[in-house]
Amino acid sequence: MRGSPRILVIGSPALGGAVSQALPRCRTTAAPSLLSGLWTIGHEEFEGVVVTLAGGRTALRALPSLRQVAPRARIIVACEPRGEPLAREALQAGADDYVLEPVVADELVAALALEYRSTAPAVPAESLPSIQEITALSDVLRSMGAGLQPTLERLAIFLRQVFQAQGVTVQVGEAAASAGAPGPPVLQEPLRRKDDTVGSISLGPRERTSYLASDAARLADYARLIETIITQIGEQARWQELAWRDDLSGLYNRRYFEMTLDNLISQAAMRRLQVTVVLFDIDDFKSYNDEYGHETGDALIREVAVLLRRCSRENDVVARYGGDEFGVILWDAEQPRVPGSQHPTDPMALAERFGAVTRQHSFQCLGPGAPGPVTISGGLACFPWDGKTRAEILRAADAALLAAKRSGKNHIRLADQAGTMQA
Ligand code: GH3
Ligand code: MG
Repeated sequence: MRGSPRILVIGSPALGGAVSQALPRCRTTAAPSLLSGLWTIGHEEFEGVVVTLAGGRTALRALPSLRQVAPRARIIVACEPRGEPLAREALQAGADDYVLEPVVADELVAALALEYRSTAPAVPAESLPSIQEITALSDVLRSMGAGLQPTLERLAIFLRQVFQAQGVTVQVGEAAASAGAPGPPVLQEPLRRKDDTVGSISLGPRERTSYLASDAARLADYARLIETIITQIGEQARWQELAWRDDLSGLYNRRYFEMTLDNLISQAAMRRLQVTVVLFDIDDFKSYNDEYGHETGDALIREVAVLLRRCSRENDVVARYGGDEFGVILWDAEQPRVPGSQHPTDPMALAERFGAVTRQHSFQCLGPGAPGPVTISGGLACFPWDGKTRAEILRAADAALLAAKRSGKNHIRLADQAGTMQA
């Protein structure tokens, strides 16, 4: 639709008012008489003309003149239901259509052949998002997969542009992101999930002018959209977490372990960080399955997982690698590798502590009659000494584990001790 259609209403002020109310997106001009209507239509362009038939046949006689002065306009007549026969005559006299009074929006839209539905709530033009806004918003939506924090950062930048604010802060729970210099909040809108307030959007002062009244309503609209985005990110994170977890032990699974190892190795290569992998395997696990049954075997895996988690640090990635085998990635975000340095001693200490804790632990699932301590063997490999890729590191750790098994179990082997690079 090109701008707002212009409609001329020739008739009583009541008819003019009724048409204007029914067609809020049209610009309506009222002319109280046929003569003034003819004069107006001769001086201005109108897409539609509504002529009352309240004056009887006079209006019919004026229709050809109206048609002559405004050949492109839709000309319709309006009459009370009892005047319908006259309205049908008006069609023969040149009117395009007629509507009955009191006028109804949908009938007017159809009779005037307008290209929009007047029943939709009127949206002020300034509150409609621009193409640039929609494009920027779709960029934000594309970043949703990256998680909450990166999305909040993009949202803050987006809202700052939309509202021309000096600064914006978007906060959700513990996460928050700002763009520009937020300053004291001038416009604020809470973010809710069901009945709880989970965060807020705060806009600092506007860059040049002050905010319009419509900005608050617009911010509320964006807040509702952002609430949906947040819920969606939460859902995604929940599904993602499930996909990365091992059902039996609750630890991370092999997929997550390998993906994280890949990421850490590429970071470590750039930032000269140290990454160590330890693979653990329960010694003679099959015998517990055989003696106590599969369920107790499962419970044993769960108890070992708890011990392993307890011995590890916050940063370590602890996973069930498969069967009775576990993997731990130890990495240090703080300490860059020193050129010429050797295998780290900390990971070895953790691995040995885990071995000792397992030996000393009285496993509930085995009860007081357990045949003896549960022991584990381990193989430790370190980037970059024992391999430069995930596959090389894991092969090195696995070979070290195998060497530990072959040389009596119940201990941890370093990859180079095991001579794995040649293996
Ligand atoms: P080793 O000391 O050489 O590691 O001997 P092992 O008996 O621990 O190793 P082996 O590979 O011979 O046996 C591992 C067993 O673990 C075989 C398999 O049936 C069992 N297993 C694998 N996954 C599960 C599981 O989820 N639950 C239970 N209960 N058993 C499992
Ligand atoms: Mg085993």
